[in-house]
Amino acid sequence: MVFALLGLVLLIIILLLAVKVGIKKEQPEDQASAAPVIHKSGIYSIVRRSPRELIAGHKPTEEAIRQYLASQNEDIHGRRLTDTIREDLLNRWKSSLDKSISEIERGDADGVEFYFYGFTGDDPACENHVPKDCFVSREQMYKYPITVPPFHLGCLCEIKAYQGEQNICDTATDRVRLFDENALPRLPEWKQIVATQ
Ligand SMILES: [Zn+2]
Repeated sequence: MVFALLGLVLLIIILLLAVKVGIKKEQPEDQASAAPVIHKSGIYSIVRRSPRELIAGHKPTEEAIRQYLASQNEDIHGRRLTDTIREDLLNRWKSSLDKSISEIERGDADGVEFYFYGFTGDDPACENHVPKDCFVSREQMYKYPITVPPFHLGCLCEIKAYQGEQNICDTATDRVRLFDENALPRLPEWKQIVATQ
């Protein structure tokens, strides 16, 4: 009788341990599925972290922009810069960069491979460099973080993830790639100022 009871207790302990191990095993998988999904080959075999750091390393710092703006009196049209306009240019730069990075982060979670460039208004500094509706691959943005807008102070360029299933090169006859493989595109210098009235 005692042995039978001991056996039963032992069995319960073993069962409890087994359940505990089972739960522990499941947890990492749950966490993994909550993390950004990197489920495609190609660029997604190397893109494993947020683009924020990489892109920030290729853009001027807030301090550099502030200093530069303080030393400038007019934009590319000869429009006079006031302190309010300078502050606005800096804030717009920061929010525009944030918007680009967030779009890429969302795209990375969905395995997006292509992005379009668009403009929220007239942008004379980008006009001759970034054709409207042209596109860039995630791989190119990874290799050349400078292809991520904003390109200059007062830039009205933005990127949007391409959500289509089809390869963009087959679908977009009127769309062009921003630049050919392994060659840096000619982009506006960040120091070009386009102030809005
Ligand atoms: Zn621009």
